[in-house]
Amino acid sequence: MINEKCLGYGTAPSLIRELFAYGLEKAKTVGPENVYDYSMGNPSIPAPAKVNESIRSIVGKEDPLKLHGYSLANGIEEVREAIAENLNRRFHCNAKAGELYLTCGCAPALVSVARALTSCPEDEFIINAPYFPEYNQFFTNAGAKLRIIPADTATFQLNFDRIEEALNEHTSAVVINSPNNPSGVVYSEETLRKLGDLLDKACAKYGHPIYIIADEPYRELVYDGVKVPFLPNLYPNTIVCYSWSKSLSLPGERIGYFYVNGRCADAEKVYAAASGAAREIGNVNAPTLIQRTVGLCVDEEPDLETYDKNRTLLYRSLVSYGYECVRPEGAFYLLVKAPGGDAEAFSEKAKREQNLLLVPCTGFGCPGYLRIAYCVSNEMIRRSLPAFQALLCDGKDESERR
Ligand code: PLP
Repeated sequence: MINEKCLGYGTAPSLIRELFAYGLEKAKTVGPENVYDYSMGNPSIPAPAKVNESIRSIVGKEDPLKLHGYSLANGIEEVREAIAENLNRRFHCNAKAGELYLTCGCAPALVSVARALTSCPEDEFIINAPYFPEYNQFFTNAGAKLRIIPADTATFQLNFDRIEEALNEHTSAVVINSPNNPSGVVYSEETLRKLGDLLDKACAKYGHPIYIIADEPYRELVYDGVKVPFLPNLYPNTIVCYSWSKSLSLPGERIGYFYVNGRCADAEKVYAAASGAAREIGNVNAPTLIQRTVGLCVDEEPDLETYDKNRTLLYRSLVSYGYECVRPEGAFYLLVKAPGGDAEAFSEKAKREQNLLLVPCTGFGCPGYLRIAYCVSNEMIRRSLPAFQALLCDGKDESERR
């Protein structure tokens, strides 16, 4: 009677959570200052002051019955209007409140949109590695087959030859996550225009729209003045899935949206189907207090300076020690090539010998690499640097001894 697939998901170990739990346990014996936990993508800067001020003012002013009651399934209209205005100011995109649907974070937005774009078991989604491992659950549960495109490890931009090979009459969507978890890479406008051209040709060839699902919880986290192109402006058949989990440091509050722009093929049907899918998964409505809060905070920006300091310190230090790192332009992750080539073995050694917790990226479709989540204190990074150095020296000693 028990669903085997769900049982499998529910009992499968999560490497990231296991590392995190190991860190907590280890800290009890060696002291928290001697554990360097880079496992989790939990924001390390507090939400902007305006978030709590808004919560206090909303709670003080609003009728509690109305405030804590159900909202429209797609969210409070004024809030969606405020989001649409913000998008229009920034991206000149003519977004309307009726094209936005508020969800409990980016994850249910992705699941709803994926479900809306899967009509038969042959339908396929193209996923570009490296990718967020939860896609395996989100998209296969929606009924889609996943076509994984291996990473172009020379640039970590899109692997066009392989995307072209993978496109076929069953392709329903291509999933794009930029800034990327785990590489920190931002896909350039040139890359995304090229993808749009390729998909336009494929749509014409196969006689149906092929959508882009833009997974964008890291949109606002970019450094060195890098811009994240707004995909619906480059390729109208794009559906954006967004959240404030990372940009406003609100991952536990569960608030995000999907946005189906008016120029997207079958826009109204896609919106309606994704709304139906949100209903199907029990996303009754996003939490109303937090809906109202983000409505007042749409123009707030994250404290990029703090993450940027971490990024610069870690990237420069690791490169100077001899690690091969992918230069991160966004999000709060640094991808490092595992010295010796075996990411699992290196992660284990780092954990055992140095209490340094690094995530092997095999599950992200990128074997041989490790993810370092630098959403931690700058002081922890400083303390951890000798551990990174020691691990490389050990490796050198070993190869010299052989
Ligand atoms: N997509 C990516 C690439 C992520 O890294 C995450 C969370 O870490 C999500 C989606 C889910 O975001 P949320 O917590 O808003 O559901």
